[in-house]
Amino acid sequence: MSKPTLGNPQNTIEILQKYHFNFQKKFGQNFLIDTHVLEKIISAAGITKDDMVLEIGPGIGTMTQYLAEAAGKVAAVEIDKNLIPILEDTLSEYDNVMVINDDVLKVDIRGLVEKENGGRPVKVVANLPYYITTPIIMGLFEGNVPESITVMVQKEVADRMQTGPGNKDYGALSLAVQYYADPYIVANVPPNCFMPRPKVGSAVIRLTRHAAPPVKVDNEKWMFDIIRASFNQRRKTLANGLSNSDKIDLPKDVITEAIVKLGKGESVRGESLSLEEFAALSNDLWEKKGR
Ligand code: SAM
Repeated sequence: MSKPTLGNPQNTIEILQKYHFNFQKKFGQNFLIDTHVLEKIISAAGITKDDMVLEIGPGIGTMTQYLAEAAGKVAAVEIDKNLIPILEDTLSEYDNVMVINDDVLKVDIRGLVEKENGGRPVKVVANLPYYITTPIIMGLFEGNVPESITVMVQKEVADRMQTGPGNKDYGALSLAVQYYADPYIVANVPPNCFMPRPKVGSAVIRLTRHAAPPVKVDNEKWMFDIIRASFNQRRKTLANGLSNSDKIDLPKDVITEAIVKLGKGESVRGESLSLEEFAALSNDLWEKKGR
């Protein structure tokens, strides 16, 4: 194994010029050019040679080189076919990396983990394409793929994942992430650590999967339907938000009764309910639904 060669502006520019690479905005391409940030991500992910790592969007292979050094095996999914010859070059020293040229939202990740890691959860590490952060993270948790997810995301999204009731950023993403995992913001990362520079601030967040969910839920899908309906119409009361939703389809008085049972006023809004309260509301309404 050799030392990573990428992670600084000079070597990144050299590779980009060698292959006449043009950045594609639509793929959220902002490559990391800061070795300190890369080392911080690798250390926060806590990777050992016993681990399989899934990387989403390896780009020119900068973080992949660090991951290949630390992990037993790395699978990297990259959508942009123009990056594949570059990855063959920058990863040629590593025999433990598999590059898959596909859209991560279309790949059977569960099948990949079954085949390559005997079904054991993997560590997901990535500098994510920001335009699909939420579907990527939700898909991984719902597919029971990760032991942990350590990723670079937009700063505002990292805040949303970590915050609780009563905060302006609190919403469906906070509740979904906290149902599956314990979030921890590792570092804030300024735009000058990337090429090209993104217009927004970034943060590295580690989501460590709970051994068991922190609340007992009779039907997960139903709870998430309720959570989404509660935040879809932020300016409405929780009772109105839920009774306006096709997915919930229960009379308003039944919904109001369940809300009052939580010890909340009739005009409470969704953003003041904790995960425990959403779980209790969801279990109560599920029973009322008679299913
Ligand atoms: N890991 C590299 C780094 O840190 O320098 C690149 C990170 S860049 C923010 C995001 C990467 O995700 C790009 O390489 C982009 O082409 C890739 N990407 C975008 N959409 C994707 C998708 N749907 N599936 C797989 N990769 C995707």
